[in-house]
Amino acid sequence: MKFATKAIHAGVYPDPTTGAIMTPIYQTSTYVQRSPGDHKGYEYSRTHNPTRTQLQDAVAALENGTHGLAFASGMAAIDCLIKLLQPGDEVISTNDLYGGTYRLFTKVFEPYGIKFHFVPMGDMSAVREKLSARTKLIWVETPTNPLLNVIDIRAAAEVAKEAGALLVVDNTFSTPYLQTPLDLGADVVMHSLTKYMGGHSDVVMGALVVKDDQLHERLRFLQNACGGTPGPQDCFLVLRGLKTLHLRMQRHCENGRAVAEYLRQHEKVEKVFWPGFENHPNHAVAAGQMRDFGGMISFVLKGDKQEDAVAVLERFKLFALAESLGGVESLCGHPATMTHASIPPEERRKAGLSDSLIRLSVGIEDAEDLIEDLAQAIG
Ligand code: PLP
Repeated sequence: MKFATKAIHAGVYPDPTTGAIMTPIYQTSTYVQRSPGDHKGYEYSRTHNPTRTQLQDAVAALENGTHGLAFASGMAAIDCLIKLLQPGDEVISTNDLYGGTYRLFTKVFEPYGIKFHFVPMGDMSAVREKLSARTKLIWVETPTNPLLNVIDIRAAAEVAKEAGALLVVDNTFSTPYLQTPLDLGADVVMHSLTKYMGGHSDVVMGALVVKDDQLHERLRFLQNACGGTPGPQDCFLVLRGLKTLHLRMQRHCENGRAVAEYLRQHEKVEKVFWPGFENHPNHAVAAGQMRDFGGMISFVLKGDKQEDAVAVLERFKLFALAESLGGVESLCGHPATMTHASIPPEERRKAGLSDSLIRLSVGIEDAEDLIEDLAQAIG
């Protein structure tokens, strides 16, 4: 089945009792049993819920996986995944990653005895340097947030296989419309469904997708045992969002290109970070693993002054100044004080994240209006 057909049909089926074509919101915590243990596959909604089942199956199908697991947020999905590890285990992570993931790794899991190494992954040499028998997981975000670095998933998968470690790819920025990491050798795909997958800035949710039955069983145990599961109403909203994922992503990519090209020629802009440019350091890798280049763009103004960036952010009229990304509407943000404030300044600078960097999530409005807004805000 091709992607657009999957986005609409995969994982979902008409309601068996009424024929309702859209998945009903099964707003129930429990299910009646005919006799103890004799039930219809559903006992309690933390464990299973039919609306959640359909969402999990839909996300798994889009990622070319076999099993999906949905969570109350992207962070709950990561939390569940890291609980596969034991004290003494080590994780090698990209050093340019979502601030909340960094915070969870360093502030929550490090005190439990799990060690995290944060390294650049433009090539795999720094990963190889940190590999040891204790390495159990390699964490990749690509393109990275907010510097839009691209990491070679096939190369990371090769290193992970050699080390006997799991390769996890946070596919939030790309979505399966742009890349399917399981096809490139990853073991787990993680999503903040809050972003492009939901697509309408009206829900917070996360997911994991795998294709290995045993790994799925371990994660499903943790999902139920720890309980960070979403409610059925939220699952319904993401199911609805997924049906237009391909159309939205196509427009995000078209608008992203128009905005990136406009910014690149602007006399007040020093640098634009977007993997679609041929001079992007890993453009060839991006072209080899992504179907297009997405609608996330970061840029720095000439002079690299935080106050200039703040003034631009305050002048935007269409781009709303807000955390998050991937909704139909365009957003702008200041990673150093917003999404990435939980990363210490010296770590941010080491990763190349300047205090004047502006991040855009380019929406699906008319590109001409977006460019007009950029023109008046940058001046
Ligand atoms: N991963 C990435 C790349 C993100 O941008 C975010 C949130 O911004 C998350 C994970 C966390 O997801 P959530 O906010 O749904 O918990």
